[in-house]
Amino acid sequence: MTGVRNLRASLKPGEVLCSHCTAVCCRYFSITLDTPKTWEDFDLIRWYMTHGRVSLFVDDGQWYLVIHADCRYLRPDHLCGIYETRPTICRSYTTDECEFDNDHVFEKYFESPEQIWEYAEAILPPRETEREQETHLPVLHAH
Ligand code: SF4
Ligand code: SF4
Repeated sequence: MTGVRNLRASLKPGEVLCSHCTAVCCRYFSITLDTPKTWEDFDLIRWYMTHGRVSLFVDDGQWYLVIHADCRYLRPDHLCGIYETRPTICRSYTTDECEFDNDHVFEKYFESPEQIWEYAEAILPPRETEREQETHLPVLHAH
């Protein structure tokens, strides 16, 4: 990361960091998730993570689902194809703390359904099997 950090610091006046970047910030989006607390919560997250390139991270206690997908308007030269009409979130994003040279270490980071399931197994009480759940069903008595 030293090289890219030097690049950020050595930009000449008028030079834009993005022109040295492959548009990292246009290749994913993330959404916040409620902190999973139950097997059902983790099972849903596991399902999210079975779909294509998806990862999960936790930062400052907040859980995020990351969908790794290139924006459909990203051009082969890494520039925006709808620059004049790009969404507000793109307009408000700046290079100040962007991912160009981001070496931030997340509190937690998961890349596969198996990883999130292993984590659930480590922190939750043992899961009831389907047979055990069936024994909790009310018993119908014939009269
Ligand atoms: S804002 Fe940062 S991550 Fe996005 S294209 Fe520019 S330099 Fe790359
Ligand atoms: S609309 Fe343009 S700036 Fe926004 S994510 Fe897509 S390519 Fe990037």
